[in-house]
Amino acid sequence: MATTTDFDTIAAISTPPGEGGISIVRISGDDALKVISKIFRGKDLNKVASHTINYGHIFDPDTKEDVDEVMVSVMRAPKTYTCEDVVEVNCHGGILATNTILQLILSYGARMAEPGEFTKRAFLNGRIDLSQSEAVMDIIDAKTSRSMKAAESQLDGNLSRLIKKLRKQILDVLANVEVNIDYPEYDDAEVMTSKMMKDNAVDIKKKVEKLLATAKQGQVLRDGLATSIVGRPNVGKSSILNNLLHQDKAIVTDVPGTTRDVLEEYVNVRGVPLKLVDTAGIRKTEDKVEKIGVERSRKAISSSDLVLLVLNSSEELTDEDKQLIKLTDDSKRIVILNKTDLPAKLDMDTVNDLVGKENVITTSAIKDDGTEPLEEMIAKLFFTQGIQSSQNDVMVTNARHISLLHNAKESLNKVIQGIDEGLPVDLVQMDLRECWNSLGEITGDSYNGELLDQLFSQFCLGK
Ligand code: GDP
Ligand code: ZN
Repeated sequence: MATTTDFDTIAAISTPPGEGGISIVRISGDDALKVISKIFRGKDLNKVASHTINYGHIFDPDTKEDVDEVMVSVMRAPKTYTCEDVVEVNCHGGILATNTILQLILSYGARMAEPGEFTKRAFLNGRIDLSQSEAVMDIIDAKTSRSMKAAESQLDGNLSRLIKKLRKQILDVLANVEVNIDYPEYDDAEVMTSKMMKDNAVDIKKKVEKLLATAKQGQVLRDGLATSIVGRPNVGKSSILNNLLHQDKAIVTDVPGTTRDVLEEYVNVRGVPLKLVDTAGIRKTEDKVEKIGVERSRKAISSSDLVLLVLNSSEELTDEDKQLIKLTDDSKRIVILNKTDLPAKLDMDTVNDLVGKENVITTSAIKDDGTEPLEEMIAKLFFTQGIQSSQNDVMVTNARHISLLHNAKESLNKVIQGIDEGLPVDLVQMDLRECWNSLGEITGDSYNGELLDQLFSQFCLGK
């Protein structure tokens, strides 16, 4: 176990804000027990065994009055979330009581924790690495169970293990290079060293690229697949949307800090979180949509990863349809021919000419016909390699990791190029070291304080 660094004692409410069955106030640090003992009436918490839950009351030493009936968990370092002494006060959960307890803890020696500070300590005290801390954050806002799986695997340290293996490989190469540079008397030392470096750089680059290949999938799992439904008025967009949003699947979240009343809506389609773009436009009154029409679609289309283009199979193709087909030609697109319960009027030859036969699907939204095949097509379109098979593999889901992997790859390219151009080994070596650093930033083995602050501040309070 890593040795605990000297930190002050922090506290925060660790359960989500608002009224609930119980709330938990968490304290971490050397003084955790000292602080709680001053305001706890019950057993002497300094003497209870570690990892026990203890019944008692929190009271205000000033007034001697009870604040709440509580259960206090006592967990001594180092086997705790932060590797420090941790005390958790389970209280009854009224906002008033919980806040009063926190205030008492703060006045008796603890400091208010910053967002993510508990997890930051777990990292600084060596219990988890950086990519694992980020996984904690991802699990907190995982959108679907598959996103959750990806985050859990990361928390397990799968990504870290792989990165650490790569770094070990680089370190071995660097060590080898050092030895060879130290013994230049061997004639072909330089040649052999160059070859060894190049072979390894090529090998590591392959592995980095394999990781990067999972990034798109990973990012979709994490952030959702931006999807828009376009089509002229009355073709059935809202009806199709509603079919996709089977009640139990719809997840609607408020996005604080974005434009007024912008809602992010997520639908879970076979484990793929679709993030619906501009559903407000679809849900508003029809004539309003008609007015905004193509212009609004253009915007939605440009910010989408996937476009569902709806055509009315019971009507002939109009100019507006053709315009929308053209607009979506460069997008990943599924063409939905809706209203198949009505007599067909759409000229299929023309449609096939314009959009091809692939990724065309027929539905009758009013009868909820075709929703399943549509879902299947959406999932297949983005996970052609089959997401199941990659489920247990390491998947990169985090934008910071992706950019660092790109840096690592760039450095490896320089190594390979440098050797091919016959640059001196000690120059090439610097690029390899650079790669080693980039990979190290993923796990936090090389890190700087600024990065840490920026990262952990994204956590919610109390985590
Ligand atoms: P939007 O303007 O594209 O969003 O279209 P809506 O979903 O609001 O549907 C317009 C009208 O078409 C409504 O009266 C729907 O009930 C009807 N509609 C939608 N889908 C179908 C369908 O598959 N078959 C039939 N017969 N009517 C449909
Ligand atoms: Zn509509």
